[in-house]
Amino acid sequence: MDCLFCKIAQGTIPSTKVYEDDRVLAFKDIQPQAPVHLLVIPKKHLATLNDAEPADAELLGHVVLTAQRIAREAGLSESGYRLINNCGSDGGQVVYHVHFHVLGGEKLGPLNI
Ligand code: IMP
Repeated sequence: MDCLFCKIAQGTIPSTKVYEDDRVLAFKDIQPQAPVHLLVIPKKHLATLNDAEPADAELLGHVVLTAQRIAREAGLSESGYRLINNCGSDGGQVVYHVHFHVLGGEKLGPLNI
């Protein structure tokens, strides 16, 4: 499958990993939008959050708890951070493999909502 994040998960495209297990991978965003900008992905290919099914609930819970873990390990627990999923074109999604952004390390601006 021609998916950038599947290739990163398989190791055929390099990334700066911060956490990995059999189900998830977390790595540094290549174009950071904050002092800390990490991405967490399930290794299973889901193009968007809309493709998730009830059977994926445990996996997605693990992705979110991995976000909590890497935020803690990056020193963000006390100051806080933002966890974002962009879904589809109006959501600003560019890479069509579900991922969550962990942003922090400074006071983030308000969301455009
Ligand atoms: P999206 O807009 O939510 O789909 O975000 C995609 C993110 O992937 C962007 O923040 C990009 O900077 C990031 N990105 C794209 N290619 C790579 C890569 O090869 N390594 C790490 N991050 C990447």
